[in-house]
Amino acid sequence: MADRRNMYFYTRSDQETLQHLNGLKDLARKYNFNILDSPDKANIIVSVGGDGTFLQAVRKTGFREDCLYAGISSTGSLSMYCDFQLDDQQKMIQAMLAEEIEIRRYPTIEVKVNDQTSFYCLNEFSLRSGIIKTFVIDVFIDDIHFETFRGDGMLIATPTGSTAYNKSVNGSVVDPMLPCIQVSELASLNNNRYRTLGSSFILSGQRSLSLQVVQDGNDYPTMGMDNEALSIQHVQDIQIGLSGKVIKTVKLKDNSFWEKVKRTFL
Ligand code: NAP
Ligand code: MN
Repeated sequence: MADRRNMYFYTRSDQETLQHLNGLKDLARKYNFNILDSPDKANIIVSVGGDGTFLQAVRKTGFREDCLYAGISSTGSLSMYCDFQLDDQQKMIQAMLAEEIEIRRYPTIEVKVNDQTSFYCLNEFSLRSGIIKTFVIDVFIDDIHFETFRGDGMLIATPTGSTAYNKSVNGSVVDPMLPCIQVSELASLNNNRYRTLGSSFILSGQRSLSLQVVQDGNDYPTMGMDNEALSIQHVQDIQIGLSGKVIKTVKLKDNSFWEKVKRTFL
């Protein structure tokens, strides 16, 4: 890590986490890292908290491709984005001392609403009805009409997001080495009048997905980018695809994606 010396900490603000922050900063200084007060000049961004904190750390620092992100868990166990545990300093020291470290790259999604507002997601983009009536969405894949969805909403997940919300709606868990997006339904209406695929489907990163909200008094849906809500009125057109941006994290021994999945779920 000789070429990366500028470290910025993004931490969850509960007492438990804050208590450990000074200790972590002292440890990093001991190994010749500069601790910065703002992420601007950082090339390592450390999140301390849970997976939710890691998502926020990435979002609040602007999905930086010139930075290496590292998640330290303060929840008592390792998680999907947290490769280090607060009390396992040995592992952190090992990573800090390593001359060369292997890097893991996580694909992200880019979402564009009404051809104007554009943003990235590391877990998923979710689109849900803001009213009690069913939500109608015309779904296009590469500009070809695929289906008309009626129901609560839709979810578009990245591979690393596939173990989060996506998994709760029966989506597949996807290897982050596959650059793709997964589309899942939230309670679709399926009968002799209305028909959708009914299962989740996975699109190549080369494809573009377009969701056209049928203007039926339902143009103010609830939209989520990871763990943050996005408030836009008169949502009509949403373009979604894999973005060119990847989030880089430290690759450690015995900590492949599938080892994490096993550790978390089995
Ligand atoms: P939260 O309500 O605390 O998150 C729910 C749980 O999901 C937490 O245990 C969180 O871990 C975990 N999580 C987050 N990203 C994950 C991932 N990639 N793989 C496996 N588990 C993951 O809210 P949050 O911590 O801010 O996390 C936001 C995420 O929650 C959203 O991006 C969405 O994926 C998920 N979510 C799930 C549902 C659902 O399953 N019905 C509904 C809404 C949102 P930590 O405790 O370590 O933070
Ligand atoms: Mn959380």
